[in-house]
Amino acid sequence: MSADCIFCKIVTGAIPCNKIYEDDDVIAFHDIKPAASVHFLIVPKLHIESLKDCDASHQALLGKVMLLVPKLAAKQGLAGFKTLINTGREGGQEVFHIHVHVIGGGPRAA
Ligand code: 5GP
Ligand code: ZN
Repeated sequence: MSADCIFCKIVTGAIPCNKIYEDDDVIAFHDIKPAASVHFLIVPKLHIESLKDCDASHQALLGKVMLLVPKLAAKQGLAGFKTLINTGREGGQEVFHIHVHVIGGGPRAA
C-alpha cells in the first residue's frame, strides 16, 4: 500500500471503480479512459511500481495475472485482444502501480 497511489486507493475502495473481478491478490476494472470498446486493467493488490521492480518473489503473482487475462477477456466477450504493460515514464507508464491493460472489441462507439 502506497498512500499517494491511485490504484492502491482503488484496491482499498477509497476511490470507486467499475470492477469486473476481485480476489485476495488481484482486482480488475474498466479503464476510466478506454482506448477501445473494451479496455480493462488487471492490477495486483500488492503495490509494485512497475515490471522493472519485479523479482522472483513476484513470479506466482505475475503468472496469476497473466492467466486471468484470457479468462476476463472472454467474460467481456472478446474473442481476441491486445495485452499491454507500460513500464517506466519512457515506456508510457502514468500510474506507477503495475497493471496489465487488456484492450479489444474495436473502436469505441462515439
Ligand atoms: P499506464 O499509462 O500507467 O499504463 O496506464 C494507466 C491507465 O490507468 C490509463 O489508461 C488511465 O486511463 C487509467 N486510469 C488512471 N486513473 C484511473 C482511475 O482513477 N480509474 C480508472 N478506472 N482508470 C484510471
Ligand atoms: Zn499502489
